[in-house]
Formats: sequence, C-alpha cells, structure tokens
Amino acid sequence: MDKTDTIKILDKNFELFLTEEEILNAVKKVAGEIAADYKDEVPIFVGVLNGAFMFVSDFLKNYPYPCEVSFVKLSSYRGLTSTGIVETLLDVPDNIEGRSVIILEDIIDTGRTLQELVHLFSNTNVKNFKIASLFFKSEVYNGEYTIDYFGMKIPDKFIVGYGLDYMEQGRNLKAVYQINQSHMINLVLFGKPGAGKGTQAGYLKEKYNLKHISTGDVFRYNIKNNTKLGQLAKSYMDKGDLVPDEVTISMLKDEVEKNPEASGFIFDGFPRTTAQAEALDNFLDSKDMKIHATIALEAQDEILINRLLERGKSSGRSDDQDEEKIRNRFEEYNQKTAPLKEFYEAQGKFHSVNGIGDIEEITERLSKVIDTLS
Ligand code: AMP
Repeated sequence: MDKTDTIKILDKNFELFLTEEEILNAVKKVAGEIAADYKDEVPIFVGVLNGAFMFVSDFLKNYPYPCEVSFVKLSSYRGLTSTGIVETLLDVPDNIEGRSVIILEDIIDTGRTLQELVHLFSNTNVKNFKIASLFFKSEVYNGEYTIDYFGMKIPDKFIVGYGLDYMEQGRNLKAVYQINQSHMINLVLFGKPGAGKGTQAGYLKEKYNLKHISTGDVFRYNIKNNTKLGQLAKSYMDKGDLVPDEVTISMLKDEVEKNPEASGFIFDGFPRTTAQAEALDNFLDSKDMKIHATIALEAQDEILINRLLERGKSSGRSDDQDEEKIRNRFEEYNQKTAPLKEFYEAQGKFHSVNGIGDIEEITERLSKVIDTLS
C-alpha cells in the first residue's frame, strides 16, 4: 500500500477501501435500476442528510429522466434504546401526496435510522415508498424493511469519506476509507458483584479513551424507562438471577453497534456465562475485533457483601439491599460466571488484580496490566 492509501482523522487510522471509480460504479448501478423502474413518472428523491449529500449529487447526475429532489435530516439521536420517537431537523417535503418517493441513504447498517425514516413517512399519503442505499451492511442489518435498491454490500467495518464522517470530519474525501482497528483495546472487567468493576471502569474509560458498557446499567436504564427489554429483565434482576443469555447477548451486540467509532470497549458485567463469552468472541471476530484481556478484581465474599449492603443504602438498588438476594447473586456467579476464568486462561488472557485498597491504588494495578497489552 502506498502512503496515500492510509490516512489519519483525529485519533484514528483508516485505509483505502473504495476508489472514486468503484464508488461511481455503485452509484450508476443504483441510478440505472431506479431509472428502469420510474422512467414513466416523476419521482421525488429524498436524500438523508448529512451523509448522503455526495451520493445524491452523483446519483442525480446519472439519473436520466425527469425527477425532483428534496432532503430530510434526522436528529443525531443515540439513546440506549430507540423510543420510537422520531426527531427531525428538516422534515418530510410537503408536496409528496400521491407521488413516488425514493429515499436516498448513504449507508444502511443495523437499520435503526431506516426504521425512523419509515416511521417518519408512515403518516404520509405517498403512492409508493422505496429505499435506496449506496452502501449496505447486510450482515448486521436486522430491520424488517427490505432494502429496495443498493449500490454494494460492504462488511461491518466503520467507514469514512464520500459524505460519511468520523466525528464530522472526512466527508470531503473522494474515496471511502475503512477503519484500522489494530490500535483498539477491548477489556472484560471480571469479578463478583461489589468488586468495584463499575467504579474502576469509570476511571479506565477516561484514562484509555474507551467506551464503557455495563449490562447491569443498560438493564436498569430500560427498567426505569419501562421498555419491553426492561419489563423482561426486571423479574430476573429483582431476584438476583441472571437475565437469559439470548436477551443479554442481543442487547450487548446492540450497544457495541451503537459505537462504531469507539477506540475500544470495557465490558463490565458481561460475559457472565460461557454462552455469553463464546457469543462475544464470535461477534467480535466478525468485526475484526477481539478481547485483549480479562481482568478480575478479587475480594472476599464477606467484604463484598458489606460493600453491597452499604451501596444499597444510597443507590436504591433493591438487589443490593437484601442479603438473601446478594447471596443468590454470588451463587449465580459461582455456578455460571466463575468457569469463565478457565475460558480466558485457555486463551492466555486472564489477569487477576487485588480488588481491596484505595480506588486509585486499584486503578494503578489495573493500568499496569493494560499497559503491557500490545
Ligand atoms: P450488575 O449491575 O452487573 O450487578 O447486574 C445487575 C443484574 O443485572 C444482575 O444480577 C442480572 O440480573 C442482570 N445482568 C447484568 N449483566 C448480566 C449478564 N451479562 N447476564 C445476565 N444477567 C445480567
């Protein structure tokens, strides 16, 4: 690869993925397919800002028949779960009744934005509603809507250029570049309830610029907002039982997908079963990522129980207030989570750190392990 094939934007390295010519061929493919279907009417193309502006421009230059163009802009909403509420900054055009509308998207990945778009147009009286996307991450797409037209399928890697940004930069690049993940650090913080995983993750995420994902926190957020996921998890959490793997694994994947730009992740409270650990390995592998280290915070049960009861007085967490529930959480840990030590030891990734001491001192012990990772 020569020098111009790799670029740096802010803190991230990217390498050339698609040349201008390859992109233009994909644009022409979409334009040709749509032209064949719509040559007898005047469709309205609706570009989705900001990312699609370059695609819309080249698309129109290659669309040979009469047409109109308009744009929508969704707010860059990124909550923990989709609320179903669509926030728009630039709304649906007002002359679309009875017309054929074709959405022009730059990229479709999990389908979250698409779902919002479909919702946005669901109250309009259009003759015909279609979706065209230049890029399509078919492996991660889990929406119900069929993608009507796409330029090319691409693997699930973060891309930038040709309208697509990393932290708002890179939209002006003529080619498309793919992130180079070799500088990433992904950690699993391991340990019993009360070991200090959440506290330490809070410090480590700042120090190493990582994204902290606590499955317990995501569940609590969903319970607080009374989402379907929250309702499902509540009965298990109230008893101190683990939430079923299927639910937890798909939620975790979702959280990772929401952060394609992260420099790495701290997984806190996940994995907690062998099935979760295996699912995590497979999932990361499919994204060209991996776990670099699993670090256990060690402390004796009696100390942890006292810590949890103390925390329960201020946190309001019902599972921290009742010794019976705490003991059940430990039982779940011993039976289902403890075997993961061997799982990660077999991969040469398991590290143990003394979890008793000052918070800063413990952060230091963890940092020593992290600093040795390549
Ligand atoms: P935590 O905040 O990590 O102590 O988690 C609180 C509760 O959330 C646990 O007792 C479980 O009921 C549920 N939970 C959190 N993470 C997981 C997981 N990885 N698998 C299953 N249940 C989980």
